[in-house]
Amino acid sequence: MRIEADLKLDFKDVLIRPKRSTLTSRSQVDLNKDCKFLNSKKHWTGTPIIAANMDHVGTFEVAKVLKEHQLLTAIQKFISPNEWKKMNKAFPEVVKSCFVSVGIHEKDLDQLKAVFKVVDTDFICLDIANGYVQGFIDFVKRVREAFPHKVIMAGNVVTGEMVEELLIAGADIVKVGIGPGSVCTTRKKTGVGYPQLSAVIECADAAHGLKGHVCSDGGCTVAGDVAKAFAAGADFVMLGGMFAGHDECSGEIIEEGSKKYKRFYGMSSSEAMVKYHGEVAEYRASEGKSVNVPYRGPIEYTVLDLLGGIRSTCTYVGAAKLKELSKRTTFIRVTKQINDIYTPFQISD
Ligand code: 5GP
Repeated sequence: MRIEADLKLDFKDVLIRPKRSTLTSRSQVDLNKDCKFLNSKKHWTGTPIIAANMDHVGTFEVAKVLKEHQLLTAIQKFISPNEWKKMNKAFPEVVKSCFVSVGIHEKDLDQLKAVFKVVDTDFICLDIANGYVQGFIDFVKRVREAFPHKVIMAGNVVTGEMVEELLIAGADIVKVGIGPGSVCTTRKKTGVGYPQLSAVIECADAAHGLKGHVCSDGGCTVAGDVAKAFAAGADFVMLGGMFAGHDECSGEIIEEGSKKYKRFYGMSSSEAMVKYHGEVAEYRASEGKSVNVPYRGPIEYTVLDLLGGIRSTCTYVGAAKLKELSKRTTFIRVTKQINDIYTPFQISD
């Protein structure tokens, strides 16, 4: 056993120091980013925020709104090739902004091949809670061989050496985050994890050295966290909870008295495991929870608020483009983030 005593930080531990800026308005900030991917050699331009491949959030209805703002959506993985075919007809342009998500079993490779016979998108998301298993690297290599020109995002990991391995194995984007998610209980159940801001800083450094990309996945609770993830070097940011609870999310509105909610759960929660596997297998524990999140209306307003917040971050540090944000950022360590004296009395935000 050894103890690493270097300081590791989370979004809540830092703020971004303002810098002299010649920008006069948020409207001068360009949130679009050009990416050329390492292995597929594909080019993509857009605002690099991705809805998570979770039930409720990774839906085509969410994708439709996000695409209007050049954002991407990772569709949840329990969608059959037949359903993809239907969706490809119902949402022909939208599907181009969607990731096809799968796990790492033999059947997942078959699923990918079947989906790509009927669907026209460039994006694949290879998703496993623990990206440290050797079988994952082998699977990434096989998917790269089968799809040399698709953009492959693979994760999740939190350390530079694994980011390098995944990029060398054929990934274009490595997804970073173990345990920070809003409905994740991995840290509680296993004691494993890594503070997200430091994970992103270290993994981005490793990836950029090889001209690869990273996606910060999990732990963003407000627009300021998303800005901090980009400022830390993330090329993409994936959001689950921040997009939950909207009209476009699947599931009914739940009414309790005068309050309205929508269901949201972790993909390793008991609820998800029972839904997709019929049970929680005896040898494993759930590593996610189920919550009812306050109903928030159309997702459009949340997206505009989020993009407005990040534009404002950029103006505070003088970054005319999102890609300059990281270079212009100095993080300062803080012991307090916000003044919450009136939080119990809040009527709107
Ligand atoms: P959020 O944006 O809600 O904080 O985090 C979303 C991320 O949490 C997802 O993209 C995924 O990586 C992770 N996640 C989703 N469901 C679960 C779960 O059941 N357990 C764990 N450990 N992580 C989850």
